[in-house]
Amino acid sequence: MRSDGDSWSIVDSVGLTALAVAAFRAVESDEQDALVRDDFAPWFVAAAGEHHFTELLADSSALKDMPFVGYMGVRTKFFDDFFLSAAASGVRQAVIIAAGLDARAYRLEWPPDTTVFEVDQPKVLEFKGKVLAEHEARPKADRRPVAVDLRDDWPAALEAAGFDRAKPVAWSIEGLLPYLPGAAHDALFSRIDELSTPGSQLAVDNFGDSSTIQRFNAMRDKFMDKSLFGGHDPFGDLDVSELFYADERTDPPGWLSERGWSVQGATSLELADKYDRPFPEFPEEFDDLATQKVWLTAAK
Ligand code: SAM
Repeated sequence: MRSDGDSWSIVDSVGLTALAVAAFRAVESDEQDALVRDDFAPWFVAAAGEHHFTELLADSSALKDMPFVGYMGVRTKFFDDFFLSAAASGVRQAVIIAAGLDARAYRLEWPPDTTVFEVDQPKVLEFKGKVLAEHEARPKADRRPVAVDLRDDWPAALEAAGFDRAKPVAWSIEGLLPYLPGAAHDALFSRIDELSTPGSQLAVDNFGDSSTIQRFNAMRDKFMDKSLFGGHDPFGDLDVSELFYADERTDPPGWLSERGWSVQGATSLELADKYDRPFPEFPEEFDDLATQKVWLTAAK
């Protein structure tokens, strides 16, 4: 399904995954006990006009019983907390790698002199910019879209947009890693390390090595339409596993530790517990995946 240098809009291939998570954030925002509030997400879903996610937002009742939506709240809050904590520690540059329809530049209370770089493919950022402009949205930081493919020389594009490698930076990598081939995955971490002066920080959801990615795929194939997701496929026709790469890749926590980063990891269960959210029970044969330290933060 994937090929070298493939590209996408917001309604196809990997672009559609950005729309999907925006739709899940919109549903989460509607919950009475929402962990996060993203008032921008429904705009994107409405503007994209994609049938499944438009219908999902019009009637999200089928989704409400699914623990998966709670998962999106936990995930969003994890990265929100990371950026707010980095800002509180004095970091004034944020780079949102694979930003998709992430509206953190508009949602979070950034210190006044903060620059937020959003890196993603050109058509994704073009769609996003158009919708935000139509709604006359105002960012709460100096927002700089960086339209580039993460398999290409993205550091050059980032620096051309004003990134200053002499200053500390907070990086997020959210919902991206399985969509990158192993070589681009490894280059991503090398380049982040190169661009990170001491005082920099990183947050990432790390699906793990190729065998773990393959097992997540197997779990989805086997259980997606059954108990785990309540009989519904929240992604509609989108089969994310077809977009994943499962080739060899380095292990980010070990790799970062060897280069002097101090790394902390939490399992999804620990994070859900911290935010007082239920987490889907994994089928017994995949129990060990629930104990993977997916949620990493690292400081240099
Ligand atoms: N981080 C965002 C969020 O959580 O809302 C978006 C996550 S979405 C699941 C994956 C994003 O990765 C998409 O926006 C997609 O365009 C981006 N992406 C994947 N591979 C990419 C690449 N090679 N170059 C640039 N962006 C890429």
